[in-house]
Amino acid sequence: MPAPVPAFDPHALPPLRDVIARFELGAKKSLGQNFLLDLNLTGRIARSAGPMKGVSIIEVGPGPGGLTRALLTTDAPKVIAIERDRRFIEALQDVVDAAGGRLSIVEADALTVDPETLAPAPRAIVANLPYNVATPLLLGWLARIDAYVSLTLMFQREVADRLVAEPGSKAYGRLSVITQWRSDARVLFNLPPRAFTPPPKVESTVVHLTPRANPEPADWKTLEKVTAAAFGQRRKMLRQSLKSLGNAEALLEEVGIAPTARAEEIDVAGFAALARAHRAREALAGEATPPA
Ligand code: SAM
Repeated sequence: MPAPVPAFDPHALPPLRDVIARFELGAKKSLGQNFLLDLNLTGRIARSAGPMKGVSIIEVGPGPGGLTRALLTTDAPKVIAIERDRRFIEALQDVVDAAGGRLSIVEADALTVDPETLAPAPRAIVANLPYNVATPLLLGWLARIDAYVSLTLMFQREVADRLVAEPGSKAYGRLSVITQWRSDARVLFNLPPRAFTPPPKVESTVVHLTPRANPEPADWKTLEKVTAAAFGQRRKMLRQSLKSLGNAEALLEEVGIAPTARAEEIDVAGFAALARAHRAREALAGEATPPA
């Protein structure tokens, strides 16, 4: 039985606007800094991540700490926050002190840190992501999604739409295929620009991702290659767009996809089948090691 988690009152600390003024934390656009200062809102995001009893939470980009405070009100025994901007480390010290050992701040670039080395399983990631690096961060975590209970992440709405897009829709593309191959992704809610300080130019969306129970077998690199070729020329028929992979017609025939189909009509299972067939052909041709 995990030890009971001590209560944390997010309102007992100085208001976030005072923290920002005291430490002169003007937002830097280059680091995607758009802060959430409404504790009701950050509380809603933290609750939407789901039950956190016994789960370590990793937060990327705590900034002045609005979401961090909310995460400390959950049952999570530990919150580990990775922040690249040194100015926030000192400003977050009050929260660290109030959290009674439950909060650690790691000064690092989240693009180069493996969260698995920071927190034991079970672990989850919850973050209001810096939008300029949100997609590479997500792809890194998706590659190892089984290491997480869930990911609860704020994206700009246009990216969130792509994550959950269905075949046949305009937003459906490589990111949709890779995301839905590895995870069950669900939109939780949207937020208008005015919810943030300073307001971004775009709407935002919170997305909840959990590992998919039985992902179709496929090799990550090959699936990336196939989807890059297919969606690189998304308006062309696959027999044309997949030519860079070799004998496209034969490949499509092997997996039962019409050579006249276009990338946006193919579902995740179809792309996984294409990736398997292509990899097997490469192995036969001696260009790659045989699939495990
Ligand atoms: N969590 C805070 C909130 O909701 O108010 C701030 C969110 S703000 C959108 C993004 C945060 O990520 C900023 O604090 C920024 O400094 C930080 N950040 C940007 N790039 C980063 C990176 N590569 N690694 C770690 N943190 C980063």
